[in-house]
Amino acid sequence: MLGGAQKVLDEAFEHAEVSDDTIERLRLPKSALKVSIPVRMDDGSLRTFAGYRVRYDDTRGPTKGGVRFHPKVNTDEVQSLAFWMTFKCAAVGLPFGGAKGGVKVDPKELSLLELERLSRGYIDQIADFIGPDVDIPAPDVYTNELVMGWMTDQYSIIHRELTPAAITGKPMSMGGSEGRATATGDGAAFVIEQLLPRLRESAGLPDDAGETTVAVQGFGNAGATIALRCAELGLRVVAVSDSSTALYAEGGLDVGPIGEHKRRHGDLEGEALEGEVNEIDGEELLGLDVDLLIPSALEGAIDTGNVDDVKAKVIAEVANGPVSPEADAKLASRGVVVLPDILVNAGGVTVSYFEWVQNRAGLPWEADEVRDRLRSRMETETGRIWELVEEHDVSPRVAAYVHALRRIGEAIDARGSAERFQRGADGG
Ligand code: NAD
Repeated sequence: MLGGAQKVLDEAFEHAEVSDDTIERLRLPKSALKVSIPVRMDDGSLRTFAGYRVRYDDTRGPTKGGVRFHPKVNTDEVQSLAFWMTFKCAAVGLPFGGAKGGVKVDPKELSLLELERLSRGYIDQIADFIGPDVDIPAPDVYTNELVMGWMTDQYSIIHRELTPAAITGKPMSMGGSEGRATATGDGAAFVIEQLLPRLRESAGLPDDAGETTVAVQGFGNAGATIALRCAELGLRVVAVSDSSTALYAEGGLDVGPIGEHKRRHGDLEGEALEGEVNEIDGEELLGLDVDLLIPSALEGAIDTGNVDDVKAKVIAEVANGPVSPEADAKLASRGVVVLPDILVNAGGVTVSYFEWVQNRAGLPWEADEVRDRLRSRMETETGRIWELVEEHDVSPRVAAYVHALRRIGEAIDARGSAERFQRGADGG
């Protein structure tokens, strides 16, 4: 299931020194559900869609993970993503296990009403499998707060009570959290800001922020925010791209107005190209001679086919899995520092956790409180992971997995493991 990622995990197992029980427990998901979702289409016909929900491990708390609507969704993909979520939640210390869900569909082919029926239909099929203390869905690829609103409403209808904590990433008017929309980019910026001094030493980034060049692939929700935050940190964002256009300016792009243009027009064309801005090929962006490359689009953006073109000194994975395991190994051998997704993009699930806490307490937080708590958590966990990098002389990815594994292992052992029974009740 994990393919080349198994190597990272094996290395993490070695350094984390967790019990055999932990390794055994993490071999298989706790449960995997496959459902069919009948949907009445606008033309009166009936179509059934395949839906999935995998809960990988719930030793540290209710499972948490997004729901993706995509034509390529399948059991293996959902299971791998649920596994990653288990590690991501543990890496940043959230009291959650990992899950993931999906529906095999191209949502662009559906009308808005069909999308609503599908979203509600998905919840109809998995309602007994989820809940605020069991498993909490959230948005992922091609699902958004509108979809989460319908899902929350459907869950509440089925259970005959308002249950906002059942799903996160909701509209503010249904119990959503301040700061959720920018959380992933904000969290990534806190990680980068904290590590900049160390990366200047270990990866040779320039001492001067203004000379530190950045390229961001994928100018969507997460990518546009991280590009803006990098500019606010004084770094020089020289390139950004979406699926159709890539922009480059040697002296730096004016990210604010470009983001505004993208929000208004949905593209990076026309006025976004004004001034000293050139259009380049999207693939060329990945090979730019920049200090920091931030892939923020899809999985597998950097693989064996293009890894030799990558010239960046540091890669920060805002997307999930943008560097293939084979490419990762090649980058490591060249001394390129890769900051891993399970840390860098964990701001999203962290603010989802904050949303769940606010829903349960019935007490919404101000935007500043959300931001302060996010900063504090990202800084603390980044610091701990970097200590492991130095202590064990491993990559940041292995260190993040070691950090997460130790937490998961402790929770598994606390319930009783072979080692614990051998040590006796007093632990001696
Ligand atoms: P999004 O749909 O808002 O943005 C994706 C962007 O990538 C779009 O602008 C799209 O045009 C662009 N894109 C697609 N293919 C591209 C290509 N080949 N080259 C350049 N750009 C391309 O999605 P998002 O929510 O920003 O998520 C992006 C990534 O971040 C995904 O991997 C997602 O799993 C990950 N992530 C997002 C969150 C979150 O809270 N949004 C949290 C954790 C991880």
